[in-house]
Amino acid sequence: MRLEFLGAAREVGRSCVRVTTGELEVLLDAGIKFAGKNTAFPEPEPLHADAVVVSHCHLDHSGFLPKFFSSNNRKTPYMCTPPSEPLIEFLLQDTIKITESRKQKPYFGARDLRNLPRFCHPMAYRRPYVFFEGTELELLDAGHVLGSAQALIRPKGKDKPLLYSGDIKLVQSKMHLGADIPSDEIGTLLVESTYALREHPDRPTLERQFCADVHNALADGYSVLVPSFAVGRAQELLMILHDNNVRAQVYLDGMAQSATELAMEYSSYMRDARSFREAVKMVHFVSEEKRRRIGENSPCIIVATAGMLEGGPILSYVKRLSKTGKLKIFLTGFQVPGTNGRKLVETGVLRIDGKPFKVNAEVRMYDFSAHAGRDELFDYVEQINPEKVFCMHGEAESCFTFAEQLKQRGFDAVAPEPGSVHEV
Ligand SMILES: [Zn+2]
Repeated sequence: MRLEFLGAAREVGRSCVRVTTGELEVLLDAGIKFAGKNTAFPEPEPLHADAVVVSHCHLDHSGFLPKFFSSNNRKTPYMCTPPSEPLIEFLLQDTIKITESRKQKPYFGARDLRNLPRFCHPMAYRRPYVFFEGTELELLDAGHVLGSAQALIRPKGKDKPLLYSGDIKLVQSKMHLGADIPSDEIGTLLVESTYALREHPDRPTLERQFCADVHNALADGYSVLVPSFAVGRAQELLMILHDNNVRAQVYLDGMAQSATELAMEYSSYMRDARSFREAVKMVHFVSEEKRRRIGENSPCIIVATAGMLEGGPILSYVKRLSKTGKLKIFLTGFQVPGTNGRKLVETGVLRIDGKPFKVNAEVRMYDFSAHAGRDELFDYVEQINPEKVFCMHGEAESCFTFAEQLKQRGFDAVAPEPGSVHEV
């Protein structure tokens, strides 16, 4: 088996590995690093493959698909789980909107996006698919976001199976059970390294703390604004608030609304579909005209996009409710350096409509990561116990340190060079 790390092995973003087994060439993920006109693609850009396996909807795993199919891959299927397909299209549609709102040209056209379903071959978890030359592919639950999968490849012949983690979470969250651990004897493991240097707080404790803080803020007459990613985090927050009996008006605004509607269609892929549906029933979906009337007169919770305050209705809430002096902002995800969310944490100032805006609100951060933390990653590798481990999809320091520490525990581990080729 041959592995090629297409230019992006040691960074967060643009995951793309080409695996060649016998005559078959499979791309594991087709990710980009989306940054407007500085968007980065896999290198060299893969122009051909017999199949593409997309682990989940996030753009750093799926964003290259429209470009890939707009060239000459008319007969190539891409495999993903049933919920991933509409979520991928949903996030790609959003990149067009974001790019156009910045008066830039999107890197693919609306037509490429419309054509995408034609190439999709949805696969349920734990149902192997056999390619023409005998190589078998199975998707396993990754516990990361709705429909997220690990890819298990069983080549024909004497090579041992290869497991690609995609993004994983081992411990269960409100939305998902933890990642599946296959019973196969794994020869090669490709594992994400995003949080190989960091531990996340205990999940149930964090959820209780978050809800207690929301409850106290409301009791003191504050409205709580929760900037959230549309896919995954927003739905999880609704469930957390509902399951912890936070009794208050909960409003949902922005792209999180359609992401929640999509998630309703695929709730069978969640840990507790019934609880999710009950949580959504209690939520008010906000129309644009009602947006201006929410939160000033009676304390409430507003979950709105964008999660890093880079746009979306969240900014109009911050602007308006800041004036009341009765606003708290609870951030629930990592804020990338350079984003509005990070500026808010570090300086208390946001850029809204190109101008600085001093925010009058207490800001708190909660680490609701959908990725495995350090201990979980080691636990994952130990449970799988592969012959060879490639530590990828993390900042360079995370990948190196993770590989180094795995070596100390007796594993044959490496943080692959971007663009490197390995025979396994
Ligand atoms: Zn992800």
